[in-house]
Amino acid sequence: MGTGRQLEIPFDEAPQWDVPALETALARAAGRALRLVLTDNRSVLLSFRREAGVVHLRLHRMFLHAPAAVVGTLGRNLRRRGRAADGEVRRFMNANLHRVRRTPRTMPPILSVGLAHDLATIYGELNGRFFGGRLAVPITWGRGVGRARRGGLTFGSYDPVLALIRIHPVLDRPDVPRYFVESVVYHEMLHHHLGGVPDRAGRTVYHTRVFREAEARFPRHREALAWEKENLSRLLRASQALDRARRAARFGTRSPRGRRP
Ligand SMILES: [Zn+2]
Repeated sequence: MGTGRQLEIPFDEAPQWDVPALETALARAAGRALRLVLTDNRSVLLSFRREAGVVHLRLHRMFLHAPAAVVGTLGRNLRRRGRAADGEVRRFMNANLHRVRRTPRTMPPILSVGLAHDLATIYGELNGRFFGGRLAVPITWGRGVGRARRGGLTFGSYDPVLALIRIHPVLDRPDVPRYFVESVVYHEMLHHHLGGVPDRAGRTVYHTRVFREAEARFPRHREALAWEKENLSRLLRASQALDRARRAARFGTRSPRGRRP
């Protein structure tokens, strides 16, 4: 994950364009008729279709802040097949993601003491051993929501906006070896330490060669990977049980069909 540097751009500077001026500039660069609709959509920042020779383009409002060069590139990209959001355009979108979030995220309560593993202790040791004690990033047990993904579990995450490491609560069990928790924490500390690197298309890459080399410096790295492979299905079941427990706690425990247990 990245470093959150883009957030230092002030939120409220005046836009470069009004809507008609932006539409005209895009049409000129695209060399064809173009209808522009601005959106506040938070997941699709850019989409378009061609209909009867007219380009119908939907753009996030952030493009009102786009430099003329970015608007020109976007217009020219619309002439071609393929991705309109490549290169300069994607870099602009990445650098302006702060305009997409209307409500700033706030730091959750930090809970590093677990039942089986103390994240602050693990973090402190890794910090001394691999980072000369120089890292300063809060770490907490996550709530384990929204982290399940196809084929596995995301055991840890680094949030570049908050500069916060979250570890999945399914790892807070006595049968999860400490070196495995360490390997997950170390991975997330590396994200904080190394940040992201833009590739040729302007997309940010996090698991670079440098990252993988640094990751492999953890002495029990291979052992941790093997342990994960061996225990993944068990951990998936445990995380589903955590989910059910949380839902039951939220809605009140009730046996099926409302009968008392
Ligand atoms: Zn990662």
